[in-house]
Amino acid sequence: MISINEARERILSHFQPAAIESLALIACANRVLAVDITAAHDLPLFDNSAMDGFAVCADDTSASGTTLRQGFDTAAPLNPPAQGITLNVVADIPAGSAPTVTLAKGEAARIMTGAQLPAGANAVIPVEDTDFNNREAGIPAPKTISFAKIVKTGDNVRRRGMDIQAGAVILNKGRTLKPQDLGLLAMLGIGNVQVYKKPRVGLLSSGDELLDVDAPLESGKIRDSNSYVLAALIESAGAEVLRLGVAQDARESVEALLQKAIHEDADLILSSAGVSVGSFDFIKTVIESKGRLDFWRVNMRPGKPLAFGEYLNKPVIGLPGNPVSAFVGFEIFVRPALARLSGKLDRSRRTVYVRSEKEIESDGRESYLRAKIREENGVRIAGLTTSHQGSGNLLSLVQADALLIIPAGVKCVPAGQEVEAYLL
Ligand code: AMP
Ligand code: MG
Repeated sequence: MISINEARERILSHFQPAAIESLALIACANRVLAVDITAAHDLPLFDNSAMDGFAVCADDTSASGTTLRQGFDTAAPLNPPAQGITLNVVADIPAGSAPTVTLAKGEAARIMTGAQLPAGANAVIPVEDTDFNNREAGIPAPKTISFAKIVKTGDNVRRRGMDIQAGAVILNKGRTLKPQDLGLLAMLGIGNVQVYKKPRVGLLSSGDELLDVDAPLESGKIRDSNSYVLAALIESAGAEVLRLGVAQDARESVEALLQKAIHEDADLILSSAGVSVGSFDFIKTVIESKGRLDFWRVNMRPGKPLAFGEYLNKPVIGLPGNPVSAFVGFEIFVRPALARLSGKLDRSRRTVYVRSEKEIESDGRESYLRAKIREENGVRIAGLTTSHQGSGNLLSLVQADALLIIPAGVKCVPAGQEVEAYLL
């Protein structure tokens, strides 16, 4: 029996990022970047106004300006001019237009948010700081504008390149693209993006007892729930599911589904159940018949029977059959494997530290217990869900916010002790 860490390292060593494809930007959310992205130009692209207002030359509004009225104290130019300043409005610049004027002394231009600053302007006075208070749509620009405020160079101006400069690396290879990333790519005119291909995972359940969710119940049978959990987990990891169906507890049946996975060009074959020492557990035998079994027992709870190997050179992970074990096995082994396969560089597990509400007994295996977390006076307290934590008791997982990680070798966690928790 090997440790969780060793099992994970052995699995991960078999996975490399998949091939690269070029995708339209619209399809790139949650996809993994396969190249570093460099800005081809500055952002903002040009000096533009951050406000609806009037583009001015800051000098015109200070002590050295020529249009100042009497009453302005030249010794203290940062005081607002008592009588105000009046400038002639010589242009109207809506967003999207290319200004053609050059402001001369004593001149201003009405300007809208995002519009390009005209030559000669270096600041914007917001409309609400002027005597022009009609801000309804469709009102023409005034002939003159007055205000009683000092404006400094750069006020309310978004300078060209102030966010991003041409040549800067703005997104790194291996990043899972977020909605906001797509916006940045659009700003930079990148309409097609090099991303890693989604890994394809062939998924099968196994067991003579399994029925389809809508099949009539029969005595001794249960419904196949793992395939629903695992398919959703695979998708949440950014991979594609190839649903292969249910293998009977017979060698030929397991073999047929593994062959199907190979035909459908799966990057990984994922099964549940049939990996223990039962007389009807055929997964291991079939893997060995056309490949190699690396290991099939891991020192963990739940989920000890967990197999890894290669079938016709395709990696196969055989998860346990019990629903909680299959879930935990996925999170510990399959999610990191899919992360590597899809080129993701952010593989860290989200764990936090919580205080155990009660004493917890463990059997010395690394254990993943289902817990609910609440906060009391800023301290996170964890209590186990449901009366028993059996690996078939899916409700214990449904009600859980986290899996408490009890390290290998620990047999008792006293009440109040800090425990690492994997947030679900
Ligand atoms: P096994 O590893 O085949 O001995 O299965 C262990 C337990 O998991 C048994 O109680 C099975 O009935 C159960 N089990 C196996 N496959 C599934 C499945 N697809 N959905 C729900 N439970 C399952
Ligand atoms: Mg079985």
